[in-house]
Amino acid sequence: PCTEFDMAYFQSYSHVGIHEEMIKDRVRTDTYRNAIFQHQSSIAGKVVVDVGCGTGILSIFCALAGAKRVYAVDASEIAVQANEVVKANNLSDKIVVLLGRVEDVEIEEEVDVIISEWMGYMLLYESMLGSVITARDRWLKPGGLILPSHATLYMAPVTHPERYSESIDFWRNVYGIDMSAMVPLAKQCAFEEPSVETISGENVLTWPFVVKHVDCYTVTIQELESITARYRFTSMMTAPLHGFAFWFDVEFSGPAIFPTNNHVQSPQFTSSDIYSSDSQKKKRQKPNEALVLSTAPEDLPTHWQQTLLYFYDPIEVKQDQAIEGSITLSQSKENPRFLNIHLEYASGGRAFVKESPAWILHDI
Ligand code: SAH
Repeated sequence: PCTEFDMAYFQSYSHVGIHEEMIKDRVRTDTYRNAIFQHQSSIAGKVVVDVGCGTGILSIFCALAGAKRVYAVDASEIAVQANEVVKANNLSDKIVVLLGRVEDVEIEEEVDVIISEWMGYMLLYESMLGSVITARDRWLKPGGLILPSHATLYMAPVTHPERYSESIDFWRNVYGIDMSAMVPLAKQCAFEEPSVETISGENVLTWPFVVKHVDCYTVTIQELESITARYRFTSMMTAPLHGFAFWFDVEFSGPAIFPTNNHVQSPQFTSSDIYSSDSQKKKRQKPNEALVLSTAPEDLPTHWQQTLLYFYDPIEVKQDQAIEGSITLSQSKENPRFLNIHLEYASGGRAFVKESPAWILHDI
C-alpha cells in the first residue's frame, strides 16, 4: 500500500528542479549513458524496465541503444512529462510509460534488463533499492542484466578545520564581543544532522573502509533493513578529527556468470574475483572493464557530494593512532524512507556514541 510517506516522496519528484539537478550532473548521466552503450549487445532487441524513470532519460538511452521495448515506470506525476518526451521523440512504439509504483504496476512479460538510478545520499537514503529488488524478483529473466550491478558504501575519518572554525570558533569573538555562550547551540545546529557537502581528498585522514557492498543480483530487502559494520582506522596524519565522511560508488558490470533461477543463491563472487584469461598478466581484471560511477572526494564532484557526520568536539589524533567503533544504518520504523544512524567511535582512550534522530536527507 502507498503510505503518506510515499505520497510525499513521489510528490517531491514531480518538480522540475530535482530532475534538472540530476540530469545536469554530467558525471552521473554520462556514466549511465556510457554503461548503456557498453552493454548494447545485451540491450539491443531486448526488453528493459526502467525503475523510476523520472523524465524518461535512461529509457530513451536504452531505446536508442536498440531495446525492443522499454517499460518506463514512475509513481511520480513526472511520468506524465516522460510520456510527452517519449511521444515528441517518436519513441512511443518502443517505450511504454507506466504511472505507478513498480510494486503495483503490471508488466505482462519477463524482462532482460533492469536499469535504475536509485542511489540516495549516503547510498541508502530514500531506500529505493528495495524497489529495484522488487522489480528484479517480479520480472527479471534468469541471467538478465541489472544496471548498475554493484554498489559500495565507504566511510573515512576526516579533518575539516575551516568548517569547524566558520560555524563554531566564529562565536568566540564577534565584533570584539565574547559570544562563546552561543557555542553549544551552534554545535548542535551545525553538527546534529548529517550534512551533504563536497570535501577534498586532503580532508581524508586515511584509506576508506567498506561499510556495505551490495550485489544487485543477490541482495535482499531484509538485508538492507539494518546494516552494522565495525571499523578500525589508523590515521596517516596528525590532525584534529572532526568526523566521518561517507560516499559510494556503483559498478556497471554484466550479469552473474552462472545464470540461475534463484537470485538468492546466485554465486557470491563479484566481477573483481575473475582472473584474466591471459595467463601472462596474472592480474585481477574486471570483465569488460566495468564502468564505475564514483562519488569519492578524490573524484569529479557529483550532485551527491559526500555525506558528513560531524562530532560535536574534535579529537586530536596523532599519526598511526587508531580510530575504531561501529556504524549502524537502519531504516526508520516510522518512515522507511528515513535512515537512522547509530555511530560509536573511540580514539586515544575516549569513547563516544552519536545517534541520529530520524534524519531525512533529500534533494531539495
Ligand atoms: N531515472 C531518472 C530519475 C531518477 S530519480 C533519471 O535518471 O534521471 C528516481 C525516480 O524514481 C523518481 O522519479 C521517483 O519518483 C521514482 N521512484 C522511486 N521509487 C519508486 C517506485 N517504488 N516505483 C516507481 N517509481 C519510483
